[in-house]
Amino acid sequence: RPHPRHATQRRTSVARPVQKIVIVGGGTAGWLSAAYLNRAFGSKVEITLVESARIGRIGVGEATVPTLRTTLAFLGMKEEDWMPRTNASFKSAVRFNDWRTPRPGTDRHTFYHPFFTVPEPPVPSYERPFHKRFGRGVSLAHFWTKLRLAGDSRVRETFGDAGMALQHLCELNKAPKPLPGSGAPDPGFRYAYHFDAALMAEYLRDLATGRGVRHVVADVTQVTRDGRGHIDKVITETGAELTGDLFLDCSGFRGLLINQTLEEPFVSAQDWLLCDSAIALPADHHPDGIRPYTSANARPNGWIWEIPLYHREGTGYVYSSRTTTPDQAEQDLRDFLGPRAHDVPGNHIRMRVGHNRRSWVDNCVAIGLSSCFVEPLESTTIALIEYQLALLVLHFPDSELDERRQARYNELMVSAFEDLRDFIVMHYALTDRTDTEFWRAVRENPIPDSLAEKLTEYAESVIIPDGSQLRLFETRSLWAILSGMDFAFTKAPPSVELMSDEAAWQAFEQIDKEREIYAAALPDNRTYLEAVHAGR
Ligand code: FAD
Repeated sequence: RPHPRHATQRRTSVARPVQKIVIVGGGTAGWLSAAYLNRAFGSKVEITLVESARIGRIGVGEATVPTLRTTLAFLGMKEEDWMPRTNASFKSAVRFNDWRTPRPGTDRHTFYHPFFTVPEPPVPSYERPFHKRFGRGVSLAHFWTKLRLAGDSRVRETFGDAGMALQHLCELNKAPKPLPGSGAPDPGFRYAYHFDAALMAEYLRDLATGRGVRHVVADVTQVTRDGRGHIDKVITETGAELTGDLFLDCSGFRGLLINQTLEEPFVSAQDWLLCDSAIALPADHHPDGIRPYTSANARPNGWIWEIPLYHREGTGYVYSSRTTTPDQAEQDLRDFLGPRAHDVPGNHIRMRVGHNRRSWVDNCVAIGLSSCFVEPLESTTIALIEYQLALLVLHFPDSELDERRQARYNELMVSAFEDLRDFIVMHYALTDRTDTEFWRAVRENPIPDSLAEKLTEYAESVIIPDGSQLRLFETRSLWAILSGMDFAFTKAPPSVELMSDEAAWQAFEQIDKEREIYAAALPDNRTYLEAVHAGR
């Protein structure tokens, strides 16, 4: 083929559009994919989703990050409609408890990772003065580093607390926004949700089938391939044959199409992340009420999540099977919860941590747990599903199945996964706990070279400009975790050393004012949720 620069004539393409998509699996990944692609392509593409009635969904996955709001808006979903049907509540932050030994003068180590507003246009209010005076990209986080390193004790100890009013409002159990019609000021916080994953899958199923997605309930027992090795149909136990141009593997950890059929290797991340198992249990609400944040409580063999839904809490213990047994982990979780734990069997899960070498192979794209997974410490799997779907639409193939598009998709997925893996490993890498075999193993465990490099850069505030690549969490989130874990910063950006601190002080004062204003203006989380769930 002539080099594109020298081509005189456009190649005539014989490609035809993808007309039929078959999705195998009806968990969050399957139904979100069906609803998303249906929204993107309407009736031009026929979508069939087949799910087993026998093989259950993972069914946890109850906490999310704020990107989901953009996705739900794209699907045309309204809070007042879907929240009551999925027992949903608001999430403004993750609170990390006991990830290090207590700081002097305190009896417990704790810090927050609040959802910062993102530095995309419109620029969030706290960043505006910096961009106006010092140019794009300079962040309050960098001034925080400068002032803390100078020993200025007026600046709060962690950036999660200093850089936003949310931590204070979470402690007061405030909803992230005022009741409609109350006339109270709206802070415009970038919140996310907790919801019952099984109910969300059902909601999305009704939405997608209502818009024309075909639904087949049966086990896929056979997958056939054509002469090129591409999947041409899946066959169910009842003998139904579902043919398609493109197949989405949403079958969960088993990777029915991508791993079992196409034999794509799975690259484990278990060398870096020791936790490989989980036990999930429903529980009553914490006595503090419906807290507007997820709690991640470090425990002797891993950590326990507490996710407040509207009607109950979802809880679970993520642990390493190298240092404890499933029975002991379940007992530890029940002991932690006390009488709040529901008297039902625990849901024991073996986690497949890592990613497929390629998540898109020939005419099969793996989405959700069949593609990649890291433990839910920052509730990122559903966000990765959203990212995969946005990328898939952007790289959507025609019948030529253009290899360049696939290669770019796979490259972006691996880089997003590895960045996220580093972010999660970072939480562990900064612990000083040595009290149990698990935490000693964590301390001795090597970290990926890419993370070692990043930590060296973070220490000296070498800045990666926000928005320059896919990072689910931007500078202020990184700084919330680093400062929360008492990370030893050594240097603020030299550019910030040359700049006046006046704008930073104004921002900190503004944040302090907002603590008071919104503490008075925002309703209790339960009050807001009761209104939504009652349809008010
Ligand atoms: P699954 O839920 O496993 O669904 C698989 C589907 O495939 C099912 O419908 C099944 O019936 C179907 N299937 C399988 N085999 C066949 C077959 N042969 N024929 C037909 N159908 C078949 N994510 C978050 O975003 N936030 C969290 O807080 C969070 N917490 C988590 C905690 C734990 C312990 C784990 C393990 C995961 C967590 N996740 C979380 C991830 C979340 O659970 C998943 O992202 C989400 O549930 C999507 O799962 P899935 O749809 O890929 O797979």
